[in-house]
Amino acid sequence: MTVYLVGAGPGAPDLLTLRGAEVLAGADVVVYDRLSVATLLDLAPAEAELISVGKQPGGPRTSQDEINALLVARGRAGQQVVRLKGGDPFVFARGGEEAAALAAAGVAFEIVPGITSAVAVPAYAGIPVTMRYSSTSFTVVTGHEDPAKGEGSVNWDAVAALGGTVVVLMGAARCRPICDRLITAGMAPDTPAAAVQWGTRPRQYTLRATLSTLADLGPQPPATIVIGEVAAADLAWFENRPLFGRRIVVTRAQPQAAALAAALRRRGAEAVELPAIAFEPPEDIDRLMRAAAEVGFYDWVVFTSPTGVARFFEHLRDARALGGVQVAAIGPGTAAALAERNVVADLVPEQYVAEALLEALSDEAGPDGPGRVLIPRAETARDVLPDGLAAAGWRVDVVPAYRTVAPDPDPDAAALLADAEVITFTSSSTVTNFVDAYGANAAPQVVATIGPITTATARDRGLEVAVEATEHTVPGLVAALETFFTD
Ligand code: SAH
Repeated sequence: MTVYLVGAGPGAPDLLTLRGAEVLAGADVVVYDRLSVATLLDLAPAEAELISVGKQPGGPRTSQDEINALLVARGRAGQQVVRLKGGDPFVFARGGEEAAALAAAGVAFEIVPGITSAVAVPAYAGIPVTMRYSSTSFTVVTGHEDPAKGEGSVNWDAVAALGGTVVVLMGAARCRPICDRLITAGMAPDTPAAAVQWGTRPRQYTLRATLSTLADLGPQPPATIVIGEVAAADLAWFENRPLFGRRIVVTRAQPQAAALAAALRRRGAEAVELPAIAFEPPEDIDRLMRAAAEVGFYDWVVFTSPTGVARFFEHLRDARALGGVQVAAIGPGTAAALAERNVVADLVPEQYVAEALLEALSDEAGPDGPGRVLIPRAETARDVLPDGLAAAGWRVDVVPAYRTVAPDPDPDAAALLADAEVITFTSSSTVTNFVDAYGANAAPQVVATIGPITTATARDRGLEVAVEATEHTVPGLVAALETFFTD
């Protein structure tokens, strides 16, 4: 089998290459460093063995020889091994040594290049490493050696003389001697210089100065230092995103959590997932199966959540059974879940709450008056809709399609909640379960809800609600957060 030396990119998980994602998905073993991005490890199969070889703060470092031996042994054992490395595996990453060890041992290997921080980190700070005419080359140089000690192998005079952009990796700790050395070598002290810390990550922070003043700002690792005319460019885009750098807790269950988290990340937020709800089959699954089989006898079937749609359709044997039945969805998310199953909702109310759905349905009574309605939904839910419909003369069958349960408290919750600024709730149950599990005091400062019902529950449980979505959908919640932080 093959050992893959995979470049993980500079930090943002979506800067991994397609080939990298492909080989991770087939990995038996993933060997990774300390700064690796946790979400990339999630791309490996759940049963894959994860081996950290990074230097833990205060702990021992696995030596390069040990890493080489590990890769050779696992490759020989016939496993698919992914050696995940930050940035590009051949840029200051000792990938060359690992490949040489594999070649010498006769173990097949493949190099999967990655996006190097030398180029991508400046790009995320709005700094192009070359500019036509003014910066016609860029030199990537290690800052690992201390130029003041005169022991290094870097030719700083040559680097300074070249006249293009200088990119220094691993140089945060030795920023001052490096800058001093470049000035001694003839670079102008007022040459623009920038240090980009935690580039491409939600905590990216860019220090801008000159060659003579950058060290005074005390850059912290990991940082990419850029020196040259281009470092004055401020084409900032990443750090300008509306939710940039804000740590936001998502309490929805998978798979819905992913969509909310992705929407937040696209706006620059650091989304952390702490599910406060999980779905299980209802106590009485037979009723759901019967309802699905007999759906053709109803005039309307009303869905109040994407999960209700998913569970109902699992038991719908033949789509034609829905032929003469009208279908209502409480909101666009539920309508989208129907559309995924090639069913176009006949009715979506203008406001995405049960009251609005009730009102809209009340206008839908046929010539013979109100008919039969099937509502497959969560086992415990508000009775506004069925009671209202029944009062208006409809014959209503409420069938539990799933049960929402509180997941076991997450042992990592304290770490996930630390430094979080915002917590989002998309239903009353997520509020209740969160407060039951962690207490109201554990909630980050800004509580954001999808709508008035969830807000009421939150207030009831002692939370102060700062943001409530005007449109009661996930995009509406994201938009409300954006407004809250930018207005
Ligand atoms: N192979 C990697 C470089 C490894 S050396 C690559 O191609 O990117 C590690 C150095 O890379 C760090 O000291 C820092 O200078 C730079 N670096 C890595 N990740 C970074 C990040 N997210 N932000 C800023 N610099 C980073």
